[in-house]
Amino acid sequence: MAAQQAEQTIHVGGEWRPALSGATREILDPADAEPFAVVAEGDEKDADLAVAAARRAFDEGPWPHTPVAGRAALLRRVADLLVRDREELGLLESRDAGKTLEEGRVDIDCVADAFRYFADLVVGEGGGRVVDAGTADVHSVVVHEPVGVCALITPWNYPLLQASWKIAPALAAGNTFVVKPSEITPLTTVALLRLLAEAGLPDGVAGLVTGPGHTVGARLAEHPDVDLVSFTGGLVSGTKVARAAADTVKKVALELGGKNPNVVFADSCATEEGFDTAVDQALNAAFIHSGQVCSAGSRLIVEESLRERFVAELARRAGAIRLGRGTGEGVECGPLVSERQRARTEEYVASALEEGAVLRAGGKRPEPSELRPANGYFYEPTVLDRCHRDMRVVREEVFGPVLTVETFTTEDEAVALANDTEYGLAGAVWTADAGRARRVAGRLRHGTVWINDFHPYLPQAEWGGFGRSGVGRELGPSGLAEYRETKHVYQNLAPAPVRWFAG
Ligand code: NAD
Repeated sequence: MAAQQAEQTIHVGGEWRPALSGATREILDPADAEPFAVVAEGDEKDADLAVAAARRAFDEGPWPHTPVAGRAALLRRVADLLVRDREELGLLESRDAGKTLEEGRVDIDCVADAFRYFADLVVGEGGGRVVDAGTADVHSVVVHEPVGVCALITPWNYPLLQASWKIAPALAAGNTFVVKPSEITPLTTVALLRLLAEAGLPDGVAGLVTGPGHTVGARLAEHPDVDLVSFTGGLVSGTKVARAAADTVKKVALELGGKNPNVVFADSCATEEGFDTAVDQALNAAFIHSGQVCSAGSRLIVEESLRERFVAELARRAGAIRLGRGTGEGVECGPLVSERQRARTEEYVASALEEGAVLRAGGKRPEPSELRPANGYFYEPTVLDRCHRDMRVVREEVFGPVLTVETFTTEDEAVALANDTEYGLAGAVWTADAGRARRVAGRLRHGTVWINDFHPYLPQAEWGGFGRSGVGRELGPSGLAEYRETKHVYQNLAPAPVRWFAG
């Protein structure tokens, strides 16, 4: 970004502008802690301006009344532009969030998929649902309408992907919105807003305010002219958002954290191939993007008889993961996103060791190297054996490259351990026994359950959590329904007096 334009990252009523206060923020590259971009540091006043523009665009603009075919066509153009800019956006995401370049590219593919999915979904729907009122004198139909102005608040781990799971359905349903990306990773969301304009979205429909959660985010959540707030982030901030939204009875959707169990039965590892697959996927579940994934498989719950062999191989492979700058040749895993996130990880590992966990891999910062600048926020993939449910590291979301190991001897015990969490986002079961797979999957209290796999999601299948992992669902038909009001239109075709009141 050119220095002059760099600070114009607030988008209001179709215009790019700096913060009203003139404040700015440097965006750091987590691989070396060097600033590489500057953005506007908005506050409550910028949020107010953006909401006013989105309100006008909803109340007076053409978008809510644009036929679905037109909305879908725009979403498809956005998907095409994302494909065109895949390399540039993938690199930006890699640099901003500290993920590998390949992960950045995959993220952009998934973002394009979300836009295409919601385009297909809205054009494939029937109009309203005709309801049989039991008489030919009444025509009754249930229709869907956009909610209105949506506030979309997103986290730093999958900045553009999480934004797209909100922006694509919000637009498909005919809403206007103001998005607030994480203050530390706003760059690809800024780039997406430029693509929305290039695709022909009318001015004012899409607003963006870069800035902190406690000012911009909090104002959006409480703003009386916002109809819906959709938030993805941590439990603490999510709770504050729900409270702030309560006074104006906004619709609230929350996608929060997870403490996700990966349950491995010994029968899944009866063959060498089965063992290799289960270990490989446990590694991927826990350490992709340095564990900074809401659905990270951070709790390995393995059958006691398999523990020693499984953990030994897992620890060996964790120790071999190549850490470095996301764009580095052969790098498999990037740094943590910030010094704060690394310090938090270190604190959890220290508390686990104090509570009796046994360190099998990692547990420290790696030596700097050509691929790993000394100032980067790197931390070694860490395996903690002999953990139990009373440890903080087992109960709380670390959001770093830390895998805890617990064991079980019976199926009931495995299920009880897997469900013993205040969260309920995702979990997996590994077994060669088809009956057991179905039984355990049926008993897990998590929004996504994988059988003999970990991490895949489908845009056409709902994503979200049980328990404190959230409220509502993203993706799938429910992910569109979040952005709609439902209206029952009852038409009397033969009006006549009711005569309830005799006079
Ligand atoms: P965070 O809660 O710190 O921040 C998320 C967003 O909320 C940011 O934009 C932040 O500025 C904003 N925010 C902070 N305080 C706010 C307030 N009081 N009012 C309004 N907005 C506020 O989370 P994070 O550290 O950016 O992201 C990591 C968390 O996100 C993890 O807990 C992770 O599990 C969760 N997450 C969940 C999903 C999911 O699908 N369930 C996906 C990705 C991340």
